[in-house]
Amino acid sequence: MAVLVINSGSSSIKYQLVEPEAGDVLASGLVERIGEAEGRITHSDRVGESESTEPIADHRAGLQLAFDMFSRDGAALAEFGVSAVGHRVVHGGKVFSKPTLVTDDVITEVDKLSSLAPLHNPPNLLGIEVARALLPDVPHVAVFDTAFFRTLPRAANTYAIDAKLAEEHGVQRYGFHGTSHHYVSEQVAEFLGRPLSDVNQIILHLGNGASASAVQGGVAIDTSMGLTPLEGLVMGTRSGDIDPGILLHLRRSAGMTVGDLDELLNRRSGLRGLCGVNDFRELSELVSAGDQSATLAYEVYVHRLRKYVGAYMVALGRLDVITFTAGVGENAPHVRADALADLEELGIVVDPESNQRRDKGPRIISAPDSKVTVLVVPTNEELAIARAAAALANDL
Ligand code: AMP
Repeated sequence: MAVLVINSGSSSIKYQLVEPEAGDVLASGLVERIGEAEGRITHSDRVGESESTEPIADHRAGLQLAFDMFSRDGAALAEFGVSAVGHRVVHGGKVFSKPTLVTDDVITEVDKLSSLAPLHNPPNLLGIEVARALLPDVPHVAVFDTAFFRTLPRAANTYAIDAKLAEEHGVQRYGFHGTSHHYVSEQVAEFLGRPLSDVNQIILHLGNGASASAVQGGVAIDTSMGLTPLEGLVMGTRSGDIDPGILLHLRRSAGMTVGDLDELLNRRSGLRGLCGVNDFRELSELVSAGDQSATLAYEVYVHRLRKYVGAYMVALGRLDVITFTAGVGENAPHVRADALADLEELGIVVDPESNQRRDKGPRIISAPDSKVTVLVVPTNEELAIARAAAALANDL
């Protein structure tokens, strides 16, 4: 049994063929620069890696090209016995609180939510439509980035603005990266051999995008991303929290348009805005070399992270576990050490040696006498999507 997982973006399609129980990746690939003069596909499976560049007219052509890659020397995609297709969908709004079998009605609902995620939902939908046409005989399942956070209490998901206006325009905290936070929260309980319902945890998903969540007994009670994935932690190119008055000020004093502000907050802010680079490895090299703006960027990043840890400790009341995940969280020991430095009084002690150890699996990095257990747990959104799709397909 294999599940094809598809993450369809505006000009790219990422895919993975996953065996959902063991989590083996049977094949994976990336179709890029769809609609541009020169497209590119990279594909890897047991036959090896292949790459080709050619014009890829649209998403349909891109996905067909990916399917053709399977049969280039090895088995055709059909021979893997694809039992379901799992689609990443960014915004599920108030409608979708769990993985959902794709029907025409679901497509209509996801389409309606495009106004909340104009950059993401339309290409996600395109991927669903194209894949349904190419694989019409298997169930397709939409897995929403927002779904895990449908449990947030009203006090946590309500913005203090005109309530009627907010209601009319769907303005509330939805949260994102939910598939990752959900998967990691379950991994944590499994790794510690404790029932999920007994564990109060903070999860720090630190990748190019970054978000924090507070999860009480398996139920999300707060998260740092909001109506959009802009709020919260400092990210590669996104600002995270800012005073909304800044936007009004820049509108008035710098004459910036909505488009300019959108571009500023999404692409010219965060680490890149502060020091010119958004990749954490490059940032770390600049910091080591003594670069001042990179050092400030790093300090702002860590300061914000610590604020969220403090806030979520209080929101949870009792904290058992803090977990780092995603590219930076899994691979940058100095961030983990700095984010939790000098918190002995709060019962959080990172063990320097365990923190430095490189490992692929889940691991404890706190000291034995730390009241709060600190973990590194690799996230795996594709596997989570594959499992969700397989579970729904099995129930049909
Ligand atoms: P993700 O979005 O989860 O793929 O994470 C991407 C981020 O992780 C980028 O900023 C990378 O620079 C960062 N990253 C990946 N590997 C490392 C590493 N070994 N050390 C520091 N940062 C890393």
